[in-house]
Amino acid sequence: MSSRKTDTLILGGGITGLAVASCAGELPKGWGGDTLILEKENVAGGLCRSKIKDGFTYDYSGHLLHLRRPEIKKWIFELLDGNLREVARDARIYSEGRLTKYPYQMNLWGLPAPTIKECLAGLMDARLAARRPGPSGSFLEWSLDVFGAGITKHFMKPYNEKLFRLPSGDFNAEWCGGFVPRPSLEDVLRGALSDAPKPIGYNATFFYPQRGGIQSLVDALAAEAARSGEIRLGVAPEKIDLSSKTAVLSDGSEVKYRRLVSTIPLDAFARVCALRSIASRLRSTPVVCFNIGVKGNPPHAAHWMYFPEKKFNFYRVGFYSNINPASAPKGHYSMYVEVSFPSGKRRDIARALNASVEGLKSAGLLSSSGDIVSLDIRPMPNAYVVYDFERARAIEKIRAVLVGKDVHLAGRYGAWKYSYMEESLAEARGIAESIV
Ligand SMILES: Cc1cc2nc3c(=O)[nH]c(=O)nc-3n(C[C@H](O)[C@H](O)[C@H](O)COP(=O)(O)OP(=O)(O)OC[C@H]3O[C@@H](n4cnc5c(N)ncnc54)[C@H](O)[C@@H]3O)c2cc1C
Repeated sequence: MSSRKTDTLILGGGITGLAVASCAGELPKGWGGDTLILEKENVAGGLCRSKIKDGFTYDYSGHLLHLRRPEIKKWIFELLDGNLREVARDARIYSEGRLTKYPYQMNLWGLPAPTIKECLAGLMDARLAARRPGPSGSFLEWSLDVFGAGITKHFMKPYNEKLFRLPSGDFNAEWCGGFVPRPSLEDVLRGALSDAPKPIGYNATFFYPQRGGIQSLVDALAAEAARSGEIRLGVAPEKIDLSSKTAVLSDGSEVKYRRLVSTIPLDAFARVCALRSIASRLRSTPVVCFNIGVKGNPPHAAHWMYFPEKKFNFYRVGFYSNINPASAPKGHYSMYVEVSFPSGKRRDIARALNASVEGLKSAGLLSSSGDIVSLDIRPMPNAYVVYDFERARAIEKIRAVLVGKDVHLAGRYGAWKYSYMEESLAEARGIAESIV
């Protein structure tokens, strides 16, 4: 059996693993900058890969850069060396046959009058009741306390149940923090009485590469990571002994490490560390993204649209070519259609695709199936971590086993949370700083 030593063994070559290797490579000499990334696929990048097909540039659905931390923004600007465009968000909600602006709760203008009345009355009741949502409550309770019965009924409940494929009483609201805007009563009233809302939320403007899709960011990181160590493709850990700090790999070789960073899904990591029973307590919702290239002009200028209603099988549709016109050939537009599936059940992709095409037609986003000139299907087996009532306890148990073993769990799936690309880069910096 061949054996190798490394300072930092990194599981997973997505944006988080690549960023960790890139930061470790900058550590002062003697601090252990040698890294080895193990990536099970034959190409690095994870969910931040892009594909150019039939002249269209597709991602794993919209992968937009929401940059709030100045130091990470600076790093990304350096990595992409000018290959970035800033875009002012145009996001919509399609419900009751109307297209309102995002976020729903702040832009009731345009909805049928009875819906507006129900939403406002529910919000007033909730504000008068002034119940403080507890951290251990369900998403449904949280939404009723924060937004009231009307907004919960018309958007929060159906949208999130469709996204997670679970009843909204079965998961909590811990993940909502920075992602679900909580406007003031005054803002809600203004958005109900006029069409001139003020931008709110974590993604009021965003950045996206001019060329090469979001993959250009992971390519730049991969080039930095390769300077500090090795990226081994097509290899996964099969067994990890946390005490002797040894990993046995799928190619039969062995690696001895000083520290371990895992960015692979936490359930997979727990399994290779012989923590099988805890692994089975972690749940996620799979998503399939249909990337569709269409002949003709885009039906709308929006960047993406949310679909809370059951009659559509997708929860979100976005337009790559509205985000960046260079994503589609002239005279064409391109969409990503996101469909979630119940966890652990067989997925009928062909049926879902047919239903999506019909849904796009009925929402006026596609004139005829005959206009589709390109199709690319991207599965995301773990897309959304489910914040059910087991999650925190299971993670705590895994972390307890890792104490004193020099292991870092990082990234959306490594740390098993709702997170985004900027956070991955910030975590990578944090890990490098913690080493020093
Ligand atoms: C639908 C959707 C839309 C999103 N949109 C945005 C957005 O607009 N903006 C944003 O900032 N973020 C967005 N995100 C989040 C973003 O995708 C993640 O934060 C980011 O990709 C996490 O990167 P990662 O490296 O931690 O994980 P991943 O990208 O999943 O990378 C993990 C890597 O580990 C590899 N791997 C898995 N198992 C093993 C194994 N056993 N052994 C070895 N390797 C393994 C995988 O092949 C993969 O390459 C979105 C996510 C989803 C699901």
